[in-house]
Amino acid sequence: MEKKTFVTKEQLEKMIAQYPTPFHLYDEKGIRENAKRLQEAFAWNKGYREYFAVKATPNPYILQLLKECGCGTDCSSATELMLSDGVGLSGHEIMFSSNDTPEGEFKQANDLGAIINLDDITHIACVEKELGYIPETISCRYNPGGIFEISNGIMDNPGDAKYGMTTEQMFEAFRILKEKGAKEFGIHAFLVSNTVTNDYYPMLAKVLFEVAVRLKEETGVHIGFINLSGGIGVAYHPDQEPNDIMRIGEGVRKVYEEILVPAGMGDVAIYTELGRFMLAPYGCLVSKVIHEKHTHKEYVGVDACAVNLMRPAMYGAYHHITVMGKENMPCDHKYDVVGSLCENNDKFAVDRLLPEIAIGDLLVIHDTGAHGFSMGYNYNGKLRSAELLLREDGTVQLIRRAETPQDYFATLDGCEMMKKYMTTHG
Ligand SMILES: *Cc1c(COP(=O)(O)O)cnc(C)c1O
Repeated sequence: MEKKTFVTKEQLEKMIAQYPTPFHLYDEKGIRENAKRLQEAFAWNKGYREYFAVKATPNPYILQLLKECGCGTDCSSATELMLSDGVGLSGHEIMFSSNDTPEGEFKQANDLGAIINLDDITHIACVEKELGYIPETISCRYNPGGIFEISNGIMDNPGDAKYGMTTEQMFEAFRILKEKGAKEFGIHAFLVSNTVTNDYYPMLAKVLFEVAVRLKEETGVHIGFINLSGGIGVAYHPDQEPNDIMRIGEGVRKVYEEILVPAGMGDVAIYTELGRFMLAPYGCLVSKVIHEKHTHKEYVGVDACAVNLMRPAMYGAYHHITVMGKENMPCDHKYDVVGSLCENNDKFAVDRLLPEIAIGDLLVIHDTGAHGFSMGYNYNGKLRSAELLLREDGTVQLIRRAETPQDYFATLDGCEMMKKYMTTHG
């Protein structure tokens, strides 16, 4: 499928007059329409809720927008809980799906009324120690082990993943939790990331629904919800066929009616914790070409680098690139599009066919709305970029300013040398 930008060159030029590149730009209209489609796809399930995975795009304006679309949040750290609290989410609108949980965070989550999703059986004791009791509503994360296969092949290897409890541990955990006063149980699993197939959720649902029926029958607990978590992917590459969320919702419904309803479990709520699917296509990284280099290869140097978008460097991930204003020109030049880090993996594209590029061209790097800005870091003393939101009415809102050297040095607040330096150079 042809990949188009959600913003025009003219709009970008106006933005750049006020906010210099590089920056991440998000599309309110796209986010809202997609969230609405998701709600429609699962409208058949009475208790359905999407808990947006905060780690994908931890910006309060984005969380606020999703809250308006009926979404809660999925958190796994103290600051993600604070962000959720800050935008006015509370109680069961917050899911706490952490692992290797630092001390105090179960209490912090519980103080907000969040649902706690236990990654391990030993965390039962941690929760009890921190809270002094076991909450009435509690969830356990399941890892069936082995490999996860669908009709067209192996998807991933849960047996290698650090998350979740074994089947035996799930039964034991439910028995212990029930004995300690838990009344409403949830089951969670996240087995494969970035799936570009309509089969993943229904396949996962089948695994979870079957274990849910056994858990209910053998331990006598009431299962209130089943959390299919994240993992629905997006078509980063133009050759990929995007997921059809309506078909995914229908696929889950079919399995629900086959397995849960006959077991007398037609009241189970379906939860999701999507991150990538909610935001990735509705964000882009806008960068300007600042250098060309002709050596053993043809290089285009941009003013963004891997600190702004780590996925290509970390996973070799493909991100589509549009050269603004040259959309209809032939892609007859082969480039490596690189940033300025002193790291040779700092390449947004390798051997990419693009139109002939000139210094000053604006590049839009697609699908950076999730796991883009949020994976940023400060290597080489690089500063985090701004985040902008393209509102539905066409206006632009700065939802996070770019970092300054003052921000970078802020944690050296005990250092007289830098304090003195910044009073004359800040
Ligand atoms: C990362 C994560 C998600 C979101 O994953 P996506 O691939 O962005 O959909 C959901 N739940 C948990 C517990 C996660 O760690």
